Order: sequence, then structure tokens, then C-alpha cells
Amino acid sequence: MASRPAEQRGDARQLAARLDAEGVRNLALTWVDNAGIARVKAIPAQRLVQAAERGVGMSPVFDVFTSEDQISPSEHLGGPDGDLRLFPDLDRVTTLAAQPGWAWAPADRYDQLGLPHPACQRQFARRMAERATAAGLDLRTGFETEWVVTRAPAGPPPAAADTYEALDYPCAGPAYGMTRVVELSDYLRDVSEALTVQGVEVLQLHPEYAPGQFEVTTAPGDPVRAADDVVLVRETIRAVSQRHGLRASFAPSVVAGEVGNGCHLHLSLHRDGESLHRAADAEWGLAPDAQAFLAGILGALPALLAIGCPSPASYLRLQPSHWAGVYQCWGVENREAALRLITGAPDDLDGGHAEVKTFDAAANPYLAVGTVIAAGLHGMETGASLPAPTVGDPGVLGVRERARRGIVRLPSTLGEATDRLEKSAPLSEALGDVLHGAVLAVRRAEEARFAESDAEEIAAATRWRW
Ligand code: GLU
Ligand code: MG
Repeated sequence: MASRPAEQRGDARQLAARLDAEGVRNLALTWVDNAGIARVKAIPAQRLVQAAERGVGMSPVFDVFTSEDQISPSEHLGGPDGDLRLFPDLDRVTTLAAQPGWAWAPADRYDQLGLPHPACQRQFARRMAERATAAGLDLRTGFETEWVVTRAPAGPPPAAADTYEALDYPCAGPAYGMTRVVELSDYLRDVSEALTVQGVEVLQLHPEYAPGQFEVTTAPGDPVRAADDVVLVRETIRAVSQRHGLRASFAPSVVAGEVGNGCHLHLSLHRDGESLHRAADAEWGLAPDAQAFLAGILGALPALLAIGCPSPASYLRLQPSHWAGVYQCWGVENREAALRLITGAPDDLDGGHAEVKTFDAAANPYLAVGTVIAAGLHGMETGASLPAPTVGDPGVLGVRERARRGIVRLPSTLGEATDRLEKSAPLSEALGDVLHGAVLAVRRAEEARFAESDAEEIAAATRWRW
């Protein structure tokens, strides 16, 4: 029998009364699977107390679901047996602005005896955040959300619109252009208002490069909170879009070969209230631990791609000179480096941070923050150091010049990235056998599913999955 996990806080009864007073009738409990899909169980809001005490049942089979809902069994998971309990995080119960009558909460997954499910991605992220805390680090993270918005056709979404021209955009203005904001001002106002009333602090909202593409950045938080936030942000954008007769795609490659949607991960390191990105007399302002942490991430990037770029579609996005960070290098304010150090102005309140540019929204954000922390801590443990930073676009250098500077291309297929993840000792130790095995099984299945597909087929099949 599942019991209430010790971490559960807050008064479920009081919360249920508040939801009732707000007219909330249903509560959506989400968790994100290894293919990056937010899966859900919804309960009547009046059952919140029971859910907080005893959890809500859900099969462990979803840990090996692919992005197209196929089951890809691993050594540990994938059969029809067993059941798990979803426990809502009561601290994150949020009334949804664009889905009247609904509230949302992220869930942690436990077995029926009340023990943590070994493949629970959210608890994995929390364990890694706790390791960082134990190493004396205060880590702040945040995700950028990019999406492409089209008009929603009356019927099912177009399966094979292979060019931007074939998709029906509600705006025609240029990249980063004010015209797009004017064309969609009601929609964009509703996006930012919905996020704000839901307690997500919006930092910026702007049109992006590709047709119909926009971006919102939100305030950083602790790693689990940042991962929760990106789920909430995405589902809110989806809901607001629908209310405007629009459809949002967060897919890595909406149109093959074009600029895609990234979901860059930002992180900053602090200790005892001091930024480790502002160390006096240190190279690039990085305190030794910050340098080692970032070097750990840089070194693990080939394996991390199997987490942050988890779909064959991810590799359509990863083109040189598309600001997607396809080379294993770092740079100071360099948008073509996979790891970008953002120093900002010396008096920026932000205190400086770094950005993993390569990741996209098909990634499970809990796995993304957890594995990045594991890689960074491994860098600290092994005393890793950063090579010289890359200046300019490595994509325009000749092969020989890149080799001379020691800049290598990150994996250009999911299969290659998965091989690297399989062999990565620090990441497999951090994930544990069950979660590591499930991730590998899903990646191998995604790779096999699209082995014979061309780029257009992959983009069309995955366009509306995230
Ligand atoms: N859309 C680009 C990507 O695929 C990123 C643009 C930017 O730097 O914000 O990641
Ligand atoms: Mg962007």
C-alpha cells in the first residue's frame, strides 16, 4: 500500500478548499517520460487529499514509451505488470489560466510500498541537485522555450507539410521583427499574462528566426523547479495557442534543414551567496570549481546529447551555423559554441551564467538538469579544466583548422550519442541501471523507427509530438 512520501508538504485539505473556491474541478498530474512527452493522470480536484495521501496509479510501462507511443522494453521495464503511484508536489499545485476549471501539479513516482521508483526522472533531478548542495554549490537553472505557431486546421494536423510555405502561419513579419508582435499582440499578451498569474516570472518574450517562431525566457530557480517550470510554460503556451485557434510546435525540427526549436539550459553556480562566475583575478571570472564544473559538462557533451537531443529529429536541427551549438567547444558570449559563457556586464545582477545551447524541447527537462549536474560534479571531482575558448563560428573553419584547435563535431546521429551515453561511467552511475537502461532502450527504438526515413519524413512525423 502506498503511503504519503515524507517529502510531501503543505496541507492538502486547505489546498483542496482553495482550489474549490477558485472553481477548479480537475487536477492534471504530469510527469515527463524518457521520450520527453508529458504524460498525465487527471483527478477530480476534490480527490486531492486522497491523492496526496495515497498517490494515483499509473503503469511503469510509460518509462519505455517512444515519442510515438510504441513500447520499447528494457531489461528492467516494459511489461504489462506492476503499478506505480503518482504523488502531486503540493508546493507546485497551480491553477491554470488558459484551462478554466483546471489545475496542474508535477508528480513524483513511487512504488506501491512507498519507495521511490528508480526510473522517476523528477526524483533523479532532485538527487543530483542534492549532490550539488552537498558539494557546497547553490545551483540556479532555467530553460528557454522556443516554439513555432501555426493556424490550427479544422481537421488533424498536416502530416507532411515539408516546407515553411506549406504551414499556415498567423504572422508574416521578419525574424525578431516588431511586425510579428503587432500581428500577434493579443496572443502574446495572453501567453505572458497566463504565465505571470501562474507564478512563472517572464524575463523576455520575442519573435525568433524561423517563420512563426517565438521565444520566452523565464526566471531561473532550483533545478527541479526549473524543470517543472518548463513543463508548465510549454503546456500553457499550447493551451493559450488553442484558445486563439493556433497550434504550437516545440519540436526540434519543424521543417527539415531549417532553424529549429532549441530549449537551451542556463545555469549559474554560487557558494555562500557569492557568484562563482565573478571570481576576482580568475580567468574568465570563473572560480576553480566553476571552471571544473563547466569543463565536466563540456567533456560529457557527446553523451549528454542522448539526453538533451533525444530524437532523430534533434539531429535535423543540429546544423552548423544555426546557433544550435554543434561543436564540442565553449566560448565567451559565442552563440555557436555548445557551451556559452554569458558574462554579461560586470554589474549585472545576474552575476554571470552559462548556457548549454545544444539541447531541445524533446529532452526530458528533469533528465537534462540531472545529467548536467552529474557531469559538472564529475568535472569537479576529477579537477577538469577548460581548454581555450572558441572565438567565432567553428562551422566556417576548414576541417584542418578545427582539428588544429581541437574542436570536434558533437554526435550527428542519435545512435552515436546513445553509444556515448551507454559508455559514460559518470552518467550511468548517476542515472542508475533502471533509468539508464530505459533511456537507452527508448533511444535505440527511436533510432530504429526512423532508420529508413529521410529528413522530411522525420520532421513531419515528429512535428506535433512535443
Ligand atoms: N533556434 C536556435 C536553436 O535551434 C537558437 C536561437 C537562439 O540562440 O536563441 O537552438
Ligand atoms: Mg532563441
